[in-house]
Amino acid sequence: MDSMSEFEGRVALITGGARGQGRSHAVALAERGADIVLCDRCADSPVVPYPLATEADLEETAAAVRATGRRCLTAKLDTADRPAMDELVAQAHAEFGRIDIAVANAGVSVAAPIQAMTEAQWAEAIGSNLTGVFNTVGAVAPGMVARGYGRIVTISSMLGRAGNTNMAAYSASKWGVIGLTKSAALDLAPHGVTVNAIAPGNISTPMIHNDFLYGLMRPDLEHPGADDVAPIFQSLHAQPVPWLEPAEITRVVLFFAAEASAHISGTVLPVDAGNAGRVT
Ligand code: NAD
Repeated sequence: MDSMSEFEGRVALITGGARGQGRSHAVALAERGADIVLCDRCADSPVVPYPLATEADLEETAAAVRATGRRCLTAKLDTADRPAMDELVAQAHAEFGRIDIAVANAGVSVAAPIQAMTEAQWAEAIGSNLTGVFNTVGAVAPGMVARGYGRIVTISSMLGRAGNTNMAAYSASKWGVIGLTKSAALDLAPHGVTVNAIAPGNISTPMIHNDFLYGLMRPDLEHPGADDVAPIFQSLHAQPVPWLEPAEITRVVLFFAAEASAHISGTVLPVDAGNAGRVT
């Protein structure tokens, strides 16, 4: 049941929480009573063709969390850096005593046809999207096992169930997240810890609304705008909608994070405007 005090006394870690979907999850969990631990790399990558979040974005999310009356611990870190993740979790344990909920949300999109994809693009996608999820789950799991309670949510993609042009690295990383999620769910099943994945469709964040992706979709136009790419985004969904709001993913995060979802683990829930009907 979704009540405004449902997560009172809980502590939630959200990676990639400076903006986009991560910010939406953090604020929603705080509004329902959870203290929040946020991290984001707050720096661009030479192979990610759109700007990543900034330190100001991270502070804006933290301010929104604190405005709900909850505490917020922030760290500027790369989830691919395991010692940094371990240190953040140790700090969270020292300050808040526990982490009950972890949302492994941080991720990047890189794009190139396989015949032109560089090692650096591959390494960035696998590092941020797959190793970053491993590091997040690996860092929080021991404390959750020790307390016999945890709710871990990973973020895959509809490209974790299919492929697409230019998307070999991204798609491989997101298929990997599903394998990791299912295996982690089995490892943690005896310990009161659930692990579930969400597979979003097109979500309205800077990851899809950027000049690079717009240009890739409409090479025929000099300065394509959102209206020019909307039909292409829509064709990736089955329902006639080009993109969904982060709040639609947040509702599923809240569902998996709930204490009452104790016996739902190892699942993948698509939120992709019906595209799930086309894939296994
Ligand atoms: P976004 O770019 O707005 O947010 C991603 C955040 O993660 C950014 O703040 C970025 O700075 C941070 N980040 C990236 N790499 C990081 C790293 N290695 N360490 C720490 N922080 C890092 O995009 P979003 O749509 O909010 O993406 C959230 C998640 O949803 C990602 O895993 C993404 O792959 C996934 N997803 C997005 C879509 C979409 O259409 N937007 C679709 C399917 C899945």
